[in-house]
Amino acid sequence: MRAITRPTNMPQVTTPTYWEYVRVLGNAVGRYCSFCERALTFQLWLFHKLRGPLAVSAQIGNNDWPNLLLICSECAASATTFTATTTYFWPDSLDAIQNPPYLYQRIDNVPVSWADDDGNATNLGTASFFLVSISTDVPSNVQAAAQATYRLFRLNGRFFNENFSSPGYTLTYDEYIHPSDTRLEDRWDAYIRALDAAQAIMRAFGTRRAGDAYARSMLAMINMGILGYGFVSTWESMIFKTLSDIGPNMMPNLIALMTNQPPPQQPVDRKRAFTQVEQGLQNAADEERKRRLAFNQALNTLIQVKS
Ligand SMILES: [Zn+2]
Repeated sequence: MRAITRPTNMPQVTTPTYWEYVRVLGNAVGRYCSFCERALTFQLWLFHKLRGPLAVSAQIGNNDWPNLLLICSECAASATTFTATTTYFWPDSLDAIQNPPYLYQRIDNVPVSWADDDGNATNLGTASFFLVSISTDVPSNVQAAAQATYRLFRLNGRFFNENFSSPGYTLTYDEYIHPSDTRLEDRWDAYIRALDAAQAIMRAFGTRRAGDAYARSMLAMINMGILGYGFVSTWESMIFKTLSDIGPNMMPNLIALMTNQPPPQQPVDRKRAFTQVEQGLQNAADEERKRRLAFNQALNTLIQVKS
């Protein structure tokens, strides 16, 4: 959950309508769901920290400004258990900056099925997800609040079994036919884009001796991806983990690039560092190779149709 900084001085609201507050808040903090972080293009709604998801007909005044957050329809539809007396974790709190409680981890081979009302399940195969969990490294009151927010919005989707050691994803028949909660799938799409971006950045580091132009264009690409998809925490954790797994130099290198600093000192044992990079690229490249193969097949099909 990305930290949200709301301007203390409320921007001008011409008429105090629901959509006017949506517009003003979107301009002030960015059009992203405050909870699942998806980019909000045409479906964006208001959530009130003391009142829960707001109906379009809700009365809103300027004194509600500190309590307003943008929300997507899927998070709003999930928030059925809201109570004003529960202590939730909010993305515009100081703890969101100082003690961010949410962690993200990739989990593969999650069984996916749909089940009828009697519980008879039909297996649909397996899927990979990038799941949110709650850190145990933050103060216990922050953990408890983060847990309450997690449960309220069902941050891993309404069909996750909430069992991290034996994960499962069981849809209702209606959900299978007409998906209404695609947050996990959409987060996974963002994860795959972030994986591409991490690989591109790693390759770009190799060109920095000749100048920053190429690496900077890769950064611009990452920026566009995050703006377009949202899910900024997914991008952040993915890129961080990929680069950190390769070696200790990678993240400082990226941060230097992002903050217009010269690259950090090269390691003394350059041959060993190079081997680490090679291994990392190899792992990351396996996934890329699969996609490249699929693209190649698609291209071949296209050429066949044309000829
Ligand atoms: Zn959402």
